[in-house]
Amino acid sequence: MTERTRVRRLPELAHDDRSTLDALLDAALVAHVAIADGSGPVVLPMACARDGDRLLVHGSTGSRLMRALTAGSPSCTTITLLDGAVYARSAFASSMRYRSAVVFGRYSLAEDQLQALEVLTERLLPGRWSELRRPTDKELAATAVLAVPLLEWSVKVSDGWPDDDPADLDAPVWAGVVPCHTTWGPALDAPDLAPGRPPSTAVLDRITLDQTWRT
Ligand SMILES: Cc1cc2nc3c(=O)[nH]c(=O)nc-3n(C[C@H](O)[C@H](O)[C@H](O)COP(=O)(O)OP(=O)(O)OC[C@H]3O[C@@H](n4cnc5c(N)ncnc54)[C@H](O)[C@@H]3O)c2cc1C
Repeated sequence: MTERTRVRRLPELAHDDRSTLDALLDAALVAHVAIADGSGPVVLPMACARDGDRLLVHGSTGSRLMRALTAGSPSCTTITLLDGAVYARSAFASSMRYRSAVVFGRYSLAEDQLQALEVLTERLLPGRWSELRRPTDKELAATAVLAVPLLEWSVKVSDGWPDDDPADLDAPVWAGVVPCHTTWGPALDAPDLAPGRPPSTAVLDRITLDQTWRT
């Protein structure tokens, strides 16, 4: 932990074990990456994938964010998983269940561009890389995969119940938690999909919602 990764409010929700960070990152597909350049601060969402001790993102070599990150701009990346809403007996005590991480550091070009691209592709859909043709040289030239080391980070996990003022406990309202889950599917064929191209096993394995049509 460093001074800037020390969680100040509700520090009891902070976790400093790598396994909690890794589990969170491995469950996330989206990171919000922040930089500050000559135009001021900007935070942009990006696909992400943990690969061992680094977090990968990729994008167009022409984008402002990618150019700044490639040039070594200091960055702050947040990853958030929403697990539920906590409805207390007052608006003040209402909150959210979540797992979130903050990673500070400078991104740099991943040395193994093709392998890093494979990690990102597989993160989005395990098994997909082997279903697809290899990227062309032109595609590779237009894309950069960047990595930030997982060295300076914090994790906060909120999984509690309404923490109401004792004076509110008899209030005539429901209190509790409504969990929130991410579900996938059903799969939608692309409008220009050629006939005879059913979803692959990898795609079907991704789907968690209404699989009755699978049989
Ligand atoms: C989905 C979601 C909703 C939230 N809603 C609110 C809200 O409405 N209002 C509110 O005040 N807070 C909210 N929070 C909590 C918020 O992210 C901060 O934790 C909070 O503002 C207190 O920050 P601080 O003053 O302790 O830390 P700061 O002094 O601002 O930050 C110090 C360091 O603590 C670490 N840190 C702080 N927060 C987090 C975090 N969430 N995850 C990982 N590391 C962290 C970072 O490394 C940061 O650099 C929400 C969090 C999540 C994930």
